[in-house]
Amino acid sequence: MVVELTHFIGGKHVKGASGRFTDAYWPMTGEVASRVPLASKDEIRAAVENAKAAQPAWAATNPQRRARVLMKFLDLVHREYDSLAEILAKEHGKTIADAKGDIQRGLEVVEFCIGAPHLMKGEYTEGAGPGIDIYSMRQPLGVVAGITPFNFPAMIPLWKAGPAIAAGNAFILKPSERDPGVPLRLAELFLEAGLPAGVFNVVNGDKEAVDAILDDPDIKAVGFVGSTAIAEYVYTRGCAAGKRVQCFGGAKNHMIVMPDADMDQAVDALIGAGYGSAGERCMAISVAVPVGKDAADRLMDKLIPRVESLKVGPSTDSSADFGPLVTKAHLEKVRSYVDLGIQEGAKLRVDGRGFKMQGYENGFYMGGCLFDEVTKDMRIYKEEIFGPVLSVVRAKDYSEGLALANDHEYGNGVAIFTRDGDAARDFAAKVNVGMVGINVPIPVPIAYYTFGGWKRSGFGDLNQHGTDAFRFYTKTKTVTSRWPSGIKDGAEFVIPTMR
Ligand code: NAD
Repeated sequence: MVVELTHFIGGKHVKGASGRFTDAYWPMTGEVASRVPLASKDEIRAAVENAKAAQPAWAATNPQRRARVLMKFLDLVHREYDSLAEILAKEHGKTIADAKGDIQRGLEVVEFCIGAPHLMKGEYTEGAGPGIDIYSMRQPLGVVAGITPFNFPAMIPLWKAGPAIAAGNAFILKPSERDPGVPLRLAELFLEAGLPAGVFNVVNGDKEAVDAILDDPDIKAVGFVGSTAIAEYVYTRGCAAGKRVQCFGGAKNHMIVMPDADMDQAVDALIGAGYGSAGERCMAISVAVPVGKDAADRLMDKLIPRVESLKVGPSTDSSADFGPLVTKAHLEKVRSYVDLGIQEGAKLRVDGRGFKMQGYENGFYMGGCLFDEVTKDMRIYKEEIFGPVLSVVRAKDYSEGLALANDHEYGNGVAIFTRDGDAARDFAAKVNVGMVGINVPIPVPIAYYTFGGWKRSGFGDLNQHGTDAFRFYTKTKTVTSRWPSGIKDGAEFVIPTMR
């Protein structure tokens, strides 16, 4: 049965009032799972009003108490881990084990946010001048928003909401309209954990809702994650409206395989990082760069049979390596990139386009694809495909491999596989990419570091999670104070200095 989803505003489920809906699917069967309401400007405004009303009392709640709500929330999510993972896997298409990882990487950021009392502390200088003390404090911005993509429907909403709420803001989440089930359930769990109604709101929608968020004068900051074209649009429009905006975009992550690398380890890494979650990860490896002909030939010999034997299955199959793609439209887009690669002259060594899942013929499945002899000028190299398609670009030497990663317009993640510490060190220093793995294929930094890509993978200042997130969702106030005994000298007409 197709269920009609709601928004979650002011601590309650609220039916969509715009009359506009979109369908969300179960990718493993191809069935419509739910009708998702698409919010109008007025519905965004209703969420803002609720958030605005709730925020001052939440900000005035001392940070340890705010942190205790997050502790309780963690307990509740642990209680519901299995059911949340099942909703997530069914709506997104990833396997249940991978859905658990999606939830876990979100919870780890919430765990970090329990340190809010420490992270919110300011600085203090006693006696900065005669009788003068200076101190700074971090204050929440007020009402802030997060706009998130389909591919991590638990992790990325929590990366945004955790720090924003812990810092004393009220938060409006506009999740992906393709898989909003988990965000709605997280809203219920926040409420059950003791978060006051109106502090965490979920408004479903598309461009109209996003534009309303960007234009609303009461929303002070927007954290966005999604494709680069939309990231740039959100950044430009949000900044023009005077907001604080950080936008994380698409990627084309390279893995350089040096001739001295352990080839079995490199192949394992490429298989997991290239095809896990059907390649629908912003930190997926989509380009392998073996250095030298001999390394390239050895890599291909080992890679081809592994890609051929990948096990595609429904999200509920615990033995599957990866599940279906998120929608039929996305499946067609990924397949058309494979067609394009052949036209462009790349050599398709493994062709997964024709894969059909027995018993699930209407699901959005495709098998793993592997291209060799991809070159820099091809669109399949330049553009993000976001599917189970790995391109091998052969580099003649280390410098050419490094230059490939440096010259690409995206700069999210990159990895080098080598046994040579000097090459690894040189690579980490010189590569023009935000997150680097040394013999680690998906170097997503842990919660207490920060996450962010460079070049056209990120727009704006400061990264996600870690201490940067607390800087993003707070503003600094600096107080210079002098008490009456210090004022007896009378008026000063020359600008005070600390000479
Ligand atoms: P998307 O850009 O289609 O959607 C992201 C968000 O923007 C959604 O909430 C969506 O409703 C909204 N949106 C879509 N079209 C819009 C428009 N025309 N105007 C305003 N808002 C619009 O991205 P997606 O397909 O959901 O997610 C996949 C993309 O996200 C990939 O490019 C991936 O690399 C990227 N991603 C990046 C990171 C990162 O941290 N850099 C992390 C995860 C995903």
